Amino acid sequence: MDQAVDFIRDVIAENLTRIRKEKALSLDQVAQQSGVSKSMIHQIESGASSPTIATLWRIALGLQIPFTALIEKTIPESVVIHKDDLPALNNGDEHYHLYAFFPVTEGRDFEVLFLDMEPGAISESEPHAPGTTEYIIATGGVMEVRVGERTYQVGPDGGIFFAADKPHAYCNRSDKPVKATMVIHYGKR
Ligand code: MN
Repeated sequence: MDQAVDFIRDVIAENLTRIRKEKALSLDQVAQQSGVSKSMIHQIESGASSPTIATLWRIALGLQIPFTALIEKTIPESVVIHKDDLPALNNGDEHYHLYAFFPVTEGRDFEVLFLDMEPGAISESEPHAPGTTEYIIATGGVMEVRVGERTYQVGPDGGIFFAADKPHAYCNRSDKPVKATMVIHYGKR
């Protein structure tokens, strides 16, 4: 959880610094326009402080930018990221760890995820919207993938593609950890 907090704090720091420079404003000017102290603005920009929602709103109003411009992760030319930088989503099972490396965002209608499944891990998923497809490549042990009525054994070093508009589940019935890279594409039906 702390990593998620750090991640958002860093995103805000980066966005505020970039936007202030784009607008060619000094720290003093941002402080004047927003009513937030210069030292607080400086602390936010240097990632030393996690601002409150109220503070972010004052800054957004002062700079005349949408609130989301401060908190959204913009797509830069390149990104290097490690799973330790991301929150582990467990979908209700402590043996299952899902990391959203590259989530759906403006201009990206797919997401790239990393799955770390200890032996015994299981995760059930509701059907996605029609047109959604999943691509999985599994390493380590064998990953069991259930799609609707059918069950498939995937890996080690094997892959599966399926239409994900029906209930599906991932399971590690092997005695080895399974790691998998997963792409979910939210296509048109
Ligand atoms: Mn799914």
